[in-house]
Amino acid sequence: MKEALNIDWANLSFGYIPTDYNVRCYYKNGEWGEIETTSSELIPMHMAATCLHYGQEAFEGMKAFRGKDGKVRVFRMDENAKRIAQSAEGIMMPAIPQEKFEEMVKMVVRLNERFIPPYESGASLYIRPLQVGITAQVGVKPAKEYLFVIFVSPVGPYFKGGFTKTTPYVITRKYDRAAPLGTGTFKVGGNYAASLRASCEAHAAGYSAEFYLDAKEKKYMDECGAANFFGIKNNTYITPLSSSILPSITNKSLIQLAEDLGLKVERRPVPEEELATLEEAGACGTAAVISPIERIDDPEKNCSYVISKDGKPGPVCTKLYNTLRGIQLGELEDVHNWNTIVIE
Ligand SMILES: *Cc1c(COP(=O)(O)O)cnc(C)c1O
Repeated sequence: MKEALNIDWANLSFGYIPTDYNVRCYYKNGEWGEIETTSSELIPMHMAATCLHYGQEAFEGMKAFRGKDGKVRVFRMDENAKRIAQSAEGIMMPAIPQEKFEEMVKMVVRLNERFIPPYESGASLYIRPLQVGITAQVGVKPAKEYLFVIFVSPVGPYFKGGFTKTTPYVITRKYDRAAPLGTGTFKVGGNYAASLRASCEAHAAGYSAEFYLDAKEKKYMDECGAANFFGIKNNTYITPLSSSILPSITNKSLIQLAEDLGLKVERRPVPEEELATLEEAGACGTAAVISPIERIDDPEKNCSYVISKDGKPGPVCTKLYNTLRGIQLGELEDVHNWNTIVIE
């Protein structure tokens, strides 16, 4: 008998909570093996593994939601499967086949069903797939063996008081997250190591996150923290086109929903000065869906772009947010077939 859970779902943070099982698959002798299930939270690893020295690591982040109808849905997992395959190939790791990825996601969610927060709580089950090179070697070259793991952890609602507040962001000119032809388009741990200093400094100064400019010219808006950026003006959804941003699945979904709502969509370089003309703006990603932006400061240029005059999310951000959440929770019709129902 497992001990009963005593979790305050609505007040969970974005932390790690142990669950019953995780699932794993090893790549050896040029092929992926059988899926394994374990209760161990540890990975036995050689100290000379390539992931530890040369950063051969890629990951994903997705969520499972308990719907209004009691069913459990995972949002767009085919997109996460494709993206981790691209991230892996970007740093010379073998791609996990899409079918294997999806099978493992379903398994790990079902095995940990008792950790899926109830619908009313606003919380969800965060799903974290990751892949690491584990071959012991000292020379700089790709590993021969890899481990692919998926674990889950219940996480609280991002907006505890509801979707009502906007927050400030700060442009960093001292740091770049990724080079124009670097690894910015891949979801790899190395990009996060490169962003930690800027992120900590932004938080210490009271901002939600740091905002990167394009690394080459420092003229165009790139990404904010670990989220994509979009702005709204003249009935148009505008999001940066850049060779160093991570292709967000939330952004891709919001683009589709914006089109469905009759907005025009523009993907193009967004010069910093254009911030002054935006009616609304948001940071988007799996964690928050949309984090509405109050203002963006550029301390080194001594200027501030105030986007939300009243400190509240604008009507377009609110509509987009409610539509995406509604689809994820089974409250609205899933017209684009984005959900996989994992538990009926
Ligand atoms: C994961 C991530 C995002 C958001 O992607 P989603 O698929 O929407 O969760 C944005 N930027 C970076 C750098 C990321 O790592």
